Order: sequence, then structure tokens, then C-alpha cells
Amino acid sequence: NTLGNTPTDGDLVAWDRDHHLHPWAGTGGFGSDEYMRVNTADGIYLWDAAGKRYIDGPGGMWCTQIGYGRQEMADTISQQVMKMPYASPWSFTTEPAAVLARMIAERTPGDLNTVHFTTGGSTAVDTALRTALFMNKRLGRPEKRIVIGREKGYHGSTFLAATVTGKERFETSFEKAQDLVHFLPDVNPYHRPEGMSVDAWCDAKVADLENLIADVGADRIAAFIAEPILCSGGVIVPPPGYHKRTLEICRANDILYISDEVVTGFGRLGHWFASEDVFGIVPDIITCAKGLTSGYLPLGACIISDTVMKRIAEAPGDDVFYNGYTYSGHPVSCAAAIKNIEIMEREDILGHVQCVTPHFQDRLHQIKEKFSIVGDVRGDGLLGCIECRPGLNVESYEAHVKFGQKLDDACEEMGLLLRPFGNMAVFSPPLIITPSQIDEMFDIMEAGMAQVS
Ligand code: PLP
Repeated sequence: NTLGNTPTDGDLVAWDRDHHLHPWAGTGGFGSDEYMRVNTADGIYLWDAAGKRYIDGPGGMWCTQIGYGRQEMADTISQQVMKMPYASPWSFTTEPAAVLARMIAERTPGDLNTVHFTTGGSTAVDTALRTALFMNKRLGRPEKRIVIGREKGYHGSTFLAATVTGKERFETSFEKAQDLVHFLPDVNPYHRPEGMSVDAWCDAKVADLENLIADVGADRIAAFIAEPILCSGGVIVPPPGYHKRTLEICRANDILYISDEVVTGFGRLGHWFASEDVFGIVPDIITCAKGLTSGYLPLGACIISDTVMKRIAEAPGDDVFYNGYTYSGHPVSCAAAIKNIEIMEREDILGHVQCVTPHFQDRLHQIKEKFSIVGDVRGDGLLGCIECRPGLNVESYEAHVKFGQKLDDACEEMGLLLRPFGNMAVFSPPLIITPSQIDEMFDIMEAGMAQVS
């Protein structure tokens, strides 16, 4: 019996390997003991079991906005646990849930005022899609149920969220909800044909959407789901004007526009939400999670516009939106989110991100100038990606696709964690990172680049 015994390092390695199946475990790595065991964390740093310090380049998983080790967060969480640790959202509401719903509604663009709480990003996406399908059922047009996703888009791991995820590996491993999704091709301006302007690329990408709608039929399409920046796809920033034009097309065809702000929400680009403040659009539905609690506790939200809510409510007949989770509006998670927002506001973290973004992006772009193996660097706010150029100075295709891992390994040695994606490495550090810590991070990255070049 393990209970009550202090485990040794060896025990932990063995128990994790033998009993803990991690997300996205390669079948060759089932039972892997390769996961770094992290023990403590403070600010933008974390320490492994051997006491070695690392900069948290990925920001946990794009989520540790206010940084680690906040006593106020611990106090708030423990006080809420003692006061009211759980209440069924079917029967009750709690002060934290009501206050947080209001706080989110105050920070969303336009008439996005109704918050359905979820357990994370995937369930927020699932809820958004079900809202679109439910609306059309209520409106007496159940055949308007297809969702348009995009290649390289990532929306999560529930059946529906994975169905609209357009990453190649999701195609191979799982069944998807059949006949529910159509994908638009890659929007990455880096992949435009040689000689084509970014504006012409934007026209082509907008035309992709128009053509797909013409092919499938607007009367069969319920929603378009898009991340403002495709983060897990490699921090792909679509060409300027793309979001506004795609939104206009959706509106003209009565297709709901779902903006998946699970990564871009809560300050990553220096605003509560990127949809309106960065890209100038007011979507019909926004999904968020991650930065909502800075990763201190799990929580997500699907935020629905008054217009959509009204259409659902005013359709003839009565029905029930059978969607929700045991932990919807969990009072402890909501209390953590309220405190997280309070801290972000008190410390003007949005202003801070806007202020340090030019330096962060400048250091990122210097990497492209300094290292010829780099094909592209891109990002916005405190989001960045380095993509290795195919073929050049790289011995083989194998080396090219492992660029991200090699750079991550080299940087890890020197105390910086990154997130490798094939021939790319991405990073999204905690939003409290200071200019000198940004330099510390990029100095290590450049030393790592020198090793892998
Ligand atoms: N949507 C986007 C844009 C994401 O990046 C993610 C996760 O990275 C999700 C949804 C899924 O969120 P979760 O892992 O909290 O379910």
C-alpha cells in the first residue's frame, strides 16, 4: 500500500511509467519514463526533481499568465474550499459563479454576454458547437449542421472538438463525427506560392471559404470555427483582413462564427480577447479556458451573444439545452478565476504585455536574421514560433522534422523549456515576464540555435 509511505525517486518514476497514461502518448512510448518531474515553481521558473531551474517557455501549456507561486491564489482557493467547495450547477448557483459570469461578460466584445462554464477548452468548444446545432434545431432547420474548420486548427480532445481539429495527426488516429466537418486549406502566409503578395494570399483564403460554402450549401452549414491565431498549428497568424472578411461571409450566409480564444484570450496578445481588440471582429460565440485561471485550476467558458440566445429563446416551442457538466461553474475554479482577473488588472498585465511585445517580437525576428536554417519566425503578443527551413544546412529530412526537438533539448540543457512541434519550436511564456527575462530566454535560444545549426 503506497498510502502513507514517502515514495522514493525510483518509486515515482516506476509508478508514473506503469500507471499514468499521459496525453498524446506515442504507442511506442506507452510506459515511458521520459517525463520530466517538476517539483516547484515560482514566477516564470520551475524546478525539476534534481533542483535544476528552467524558464517556463511554453507557459505551462499556453496558460500560466500571472506566473507561479501566487500566495493570493492559494489563499483564495483554500478559503473557497472551506466556504463552499462544490455546488451542483443543476440546482444551485454560487457567488463565485455569478460574479465571474458577470466579469467575463463585461470584458467580452459586443453583445457576448451569456457564459456557459465548462471544465476546459475542449468542453468549451464542444459546447459552442452544440449551441450552434441546437440553435438550428430550434429554428426548424436541423440539416444546417455542418461545421467548417481549418487545416492546422486545434480545438481539443472531446469527440466533437477533435472532429473539427484540422491537424494531420488527428486524421489518422481516431474516428471523427462523420459528415459533420469540412476543412479549409492552410492559411499560413509563409506557405503562399513564391511571388504571391500577402494581400493576394488573403484573397485566395477568403475565396476558399466562399467556394466551400458554395459547394456544400449555406443551408447545410451551421458554424465556422477559427482560432484568431492558430497556436498549436505553429502560431500561424492569418493575413491582415482575413478575420473581418471571413466574418462578413459567415454573417451573409447565416453561419455562426465561433472564435476559439482558448489560447489568445486572457492577455496573451495584450487584451482580454483578441477577436475585437486585435482583429476587429465581434464573433457570435467565443470559447476560452487556460489563462482564465492562469492554470491554477481547470475552467473553461463558452460565451454566447445575445443575438444567438434570443434566436434560441424566441424559436417556437419549448426545449432544453441538454449540455453541462458536474463541474460547470465550479465555485473554487470560479473563485480562482476572479482572483486571477483581479491580479491581472491590479498589475496591469495587459498593459505590460503590450509594452514588452515589441522587444519580445524583435528578439524573435533577430533569430531569423542570425540563423540561416530558420525559414520563418512568427508571432504576436507573447506568442512565438521558429520554423526550420526545409533542406538548407540540414543534413536530411529526418533532421528537419526533428528541429523542434533538437532545439528544445539544447535549450533544456541550458535551463529553458520550449514546445517542439516537428520542424518548429513554439513558446508562450508567463505574461509577467520582464524585459531582462525575455533577454535571458532569447539568449539561451540563440545559444541553442548555434548548437543545432
Ligand atoms: N482550443 C484551443 C485553441 C487550444 O489550443 C486548446 C488546447 O491547447 C483547446 C481548445 C483544448 O483545451 P483543453 O486542453 O483545455 O481541453
